Amino acid sequence: MAADDLIVLRPEGLYCPAGDLFIDPWRPVERAVITHAHADHARRGHARYLATRAGENVLRARLGDITLETLDYGERLRIGEATVSLHPAGHVLGSAQVRIEHRGQVWVASGDYKIAPDATCAAFEPVRAHVFVTESTFGLPVYRWPAPEAVFAEINAWWRTNAEAGRASVIACYAFGKAQRILAGVDASIGPIVVHGAVATLDRAYAASGVALPATHLATEIERGALGHALVIAPPAATSATWIRRFTTRAGPPEIAFASGWMRLRGARRRGGYDRGFVLSDHADWPGLLSAIEATGAERVIVTHGYEAPLRRYLEERGLQSGRFETQFGGSEEEAAEGEALDHSAEVSP
Ligand SMILES: [Zn+2]
Ligand SMILES: [Zn+2]
Repeated sequence: MAADDLIVLRPEGLYCPAGDLFIDPWRPVERAVITHAHADHARRGHARYLATRAGENVLRARLGDITLETLDYGERLRIGEATVSLHPAGHVLGSAQVRIEHRGQVWVASGDYKIAPDATCAAFEPVRAHVFVTESTFGLPVYRWPAPEAVFAEINAWWRTNAEAGRASVIACYAFGKAQRILAGVDASIGPIVVHGAVATLDRAYAASGVALPATHLATEIERGALGHALVIAPPAATSATWIRRFTTRAGPPEIAFASGWMRLRGARRRGGYDRGFVLSDHADWPGLLSAIEATGAERVIVTHGYEAPLRRYLEERGLQSGRFETQFGGSEEEAAEGEALDHSAEVSP
């Protein structure tokens, strides 16, 4: 690391000396810039928070009463000797890349991001930088996502078929981001939609932020007779519990699907005990990572979390400098250890 690096690794997290600030720190600090409200990036205990205005409601829904200053996307703020701005990352509502400028040098820290369209958040915006600090959750060539419209068509067809047979359809997915993206993407005319309480809490934060989602019910609110046509959206933890049994109808137990980028791998669905897997991720796939990196024009790329070795090798072969920050991101939501439990070795091209 050179002495004039704009972002360095400290025990508390990614640190910008010029602005005396941290990006998504994992230990309590004085000043935290938060890329998005997933638990591994937005933690409690910091004295002051800076995040996007679009993400304010979801951040407060997760962290409660915090001292929060917000910026519009693209708005610039001078902090110490650094100029800081936040740019859409396309990951979840309010998610941002952090751009830091100091003495003509520009560094961008991506947070988590995706390139694919998402009706519930602002689209990823490429930002030019000298150095790009990127996530790499799905940084293997095997990860290529189908078009989201095609996945939503599959989900609708599956729901319709189950409804015709009188069986409830349960989709397990992460309560923040994925759940709302699915709600916005499905055909709500097929039947009633039930959400788990954890999803409902975030739905309210989305609604307060102006994101339109279809009407939903809590499990306690729906009539027994309507269950056979219902789509149920719940976090994975709920789908193994007794909570799911209430959706059994005369036609049988509910069909249970899982929606995640990990469903791209054969065997992941089976090992999770799901009837069906939908490949829907809020992270960039391999081509998405490469196109995002190229669009920054960066000569140096530092990888924070995920499969960093294959991505670094690829970039180095193309003449870019690469590095790594050993972070504590990736411990929650879609990046969680379920991915590590999967045997992906058989499908990874050498
Ligand atoms: Zn995230
Ligand atoms: Zn992450």
